Amino acid sequence: MDKVRKLLIAGNWKMNKTVAEALSLAGDLQRELGLVKEVDIVICPPFTALSEVSKLILDSKSIRLGAQDMSQHNFGAYTGDICAGMLKEFSVRYVILGHSERRQFAKESDALINAKTKAALAASLKPIVCVGETLTEREANLTEKVVDTQITGCLAGLTKDQMDEVVIAYEPVWAIGTGKTATSQQAQEVHQFIRKRITALFDDAVAKRVRILYGGSVKPANTRELMSQRDVDGALVGGASLEARSFSDIVKNSI
Ligand code: PEP
Repeated sequence: MDKVRKLLIAGNWKMNKTVAEALSLAGDLQRELGLVKEVDIVICPPFTALSEVSKLILDSKSIRLGAQDMSQHNFGAYTGDICAGMLKEFSVRYVILGHSERRQFAKESDALINAKTKAALAASLKPIVCVGETLTEREANLTEKVVDTQITGCLAGLTKDQMDEVVIAYEPVWAIGTGKTATSQQAQEVHQFIRKRITALFDDAVAKRVRILYGGSVKPANTRELMSQRDVDGALVGGASLEARSFSDIVKNSI
């Protein structure tokens, strides 16, 4: 696919996979996708599998490791948390921040996601910052307002240079894990809006470079159509990233 920005396909394994299962999936992906150069590929296993998966894909030319969250603090008395310094031990390059499940279940605010984003950048991790509206918000015509508030809050205080390391994921909450995908036109509209807001918050050059992923029931069958949209620069994949066949097909259909 002829795109302005290099596509990024990221798999969010969420709270799935034992270490053995994670190794089996990562091994299959390595065999299937090991030679792919056209798109960036990131897999985000649970924390408990990072160590082993990182050893397995150490020499991979194509697959990079991501985490699903991290603390805004760096080492100390924060029971149960994981910090950037710990992720770096396993060659983690990316970290998903502000996923809607963390906003919903852990009550994460834009201010907290902003602090985590800054902590990730300070540790040279690339944050994948998630935004998106609920069904009620979409039906009340609040999509742009909600996404604008999230973008503005989560990216507050970042420099233009730092923005080059940031990836944004637009994930309409109503499309996550529901089998309902935004139409490619709905996705494009919001992606275009986000890019316009990035121009206003930073500048046109930053907006032209930033990658905006779509997430929400992405599967092999809808990948091509979604990725063909001008402002869609990749996908954040949940359910379909749990099987080597479907994730590999998503990657291949995006090329
Ligand atoms: C996600 O959780 O980031 C996601 C997009 O999930 P799914 O692909 O299962 O909708």
